[in-house]
Amino acid sequence: MRYAILSDIHGNLEALEAVLLQIENASIDYIICLGDVVGYGPNPNECIELIKQKAKIILAGNHDYAPIGRIDTSFFNAYAKAAIRWTGEVLTEENMAFLAGLPLQYKEGEVHFVHATPHKPEQWDYIFYVDDAIQQFLSFSDRVCFVGHSHSPVIFSELKRQEYHVLNETAFCLEAGVRYIINVGSVGQPRDLNPNSAYAVYDTDTGHYHLHRTEYDIVKTQMKMRAVGLPNFLIARLQIGQ
Ligand code: ZN
Repeated sequence: MRYAILSDIHGNLEALEAVLLQIENASIDYIICLGDVVGYGPNPNECIELIKQKAKIILAGNHDYAPIGRIDTSFFNAYAKAAIRWTGEVLTEENMAFLAGLPLQYKEGEVHFVHATPHKPEQWDYIFYVDDAIQQFLSFSDRVCFVGHSHSPVIFSELKRQEYHVLNETAFCLEAGVRYIINVGSVGQPRDLNPNSAYAVYDTDTGHYHLHRTEYDIVKTQMKMRAVGLPNFLIARLQIGQ
């Protein structure tokens, strides 16, 4: 099985279209979306409608539950709050109902998919460091868990519950006997100082993992954001990937 794994689209239609175009030629079996389809970007409805057509599985992110009032947003920063308020105003009723029905995690064979963390995904914790990953490895038994949420691609590996590493490979083969937590980065708002959209392809037969980066029309997205009055901070960060 060859999956394309997309996360954190955040209403950025130009980024999503560019990634989907690249995936079309990559002999993928199907697309799995790890959530945060909306929030921050200017095209939440269009992104929902497009990813609904293309992905087999779509999971919920915190930004998908926020505009429908499903989670407490008091911990969000002012920019995120402003974007959530705007997103909640423009979402169609049909799309709100769609977001409300998204599940938190999905499992297939030896592969686990979740937006934030396999342990209590509804807490929306982050896996930034090895210590965060060690706790998470205890909470799932699959060979690999794919996550999003931090918008920064990274790989954590675990050997026999005692040896842990951080890897920054963009292409490698999963080793036998080693377990992994892999963050696939963000399609619509990368934060690893690379503004190009990130997404991953994973082949369960060969164990091969590849993180891809795709250029998209950032200026066009920024113009749309400006036109609807989204915060300048959110517009500027797309350019630098931060
Ligand atoms: Zn996100």
